Amino acid sequence: MLEVQELHVRYGTTHAVRGVSLTVGAGEAVALLGPNGAGKTSTLRALSRLTAATGAVRFDGEDLSGLAAEQVARRGLIHVPEGRRVFVDLTVHENLQLGMTARQGRTGGFSLDDVYDLFPALVPLRRRLGFALSGGEQQMTAIGRGLVAAPRMMLIDEPSLGLAPVVVEAVAEALVAVRSRVALLVIEQNVHVAVRVCQRAAVLNGGAIVMQAAVDELHDRDTLLASYLGQR
Ligand code: ATP
Repeated sequence: MLEVQELHVRYGTTHAVRGVSLTVGAGEAVALLGPNGAGKTSTLRALSRLTAATGAVRFDGEDLSGLAAEQVARRGLIHVPEGRRVFVDLTVHENLQLGMTARQGRTGGFSLDDVYDLFPALVPLRRRLGFALSGGEQQMTAIGRGLVAAPRMMLIDEPSLGLAPVVVEAVAEALVAVRSRVALLVIEQNVHVAVRVCQRAAVLNGGAIVMQAAVDELHDRDTLLASYLGQR
């Protein structure tokens, strides 16, 4: 479904992503792991064309390289950015409704009710403005907004970062519940969440993929941590 070959991202003299190649199949959930500065966010932003990059990115066989970010989203490749950017002057419900405008006629998406079922904590907050939400409530809203856009694949940047354990649990549970309907590529520093949500993981370090494995194999934590830290 998503095929990435030899992706490079450069910021001036910083070569942040150095020849990343990976695939995510339909119905697959893949974790992107790696230390700070490894190039995870740059990779994700390059895939959704929010950051300039070279290399081949194909989504359902279509080359995305000439497209603007908005056109990529219209094809159902939906980015949930780092920092849970919800619209602070809109309510939870209005934020979710906004996600529906990105549907572009795709059917089979998640309804607003589906999102409230996935995240019951949002139900009493329907009319609360974005600025008055906690980090976890914002994250649930941001993921919900992505889901109602009828994504074919979601790119999610650090969904559990900085959240209380109970909210991490709610987010992980929701991602497990949706992954049969939408492919996922998730940046996740929390290895427990990555192992729970994803079938496969790619470990980035220094802008390059240093390890790809089924998450079952990541249970060997020594192997994981060694590659995570770039040490052997
Ligand atoms: P983190 O977990 O800290 O977000 P990351 O793995 O997502 O790390 P990136 O944010 O992609 O890594 O950063 C990779 C490299 O590119 C880092 O050296 C970072 O300083 C640099 N970088 C990222 N964004 C920019 C930018 N807009 N301009 C210049 N350099 C950047």
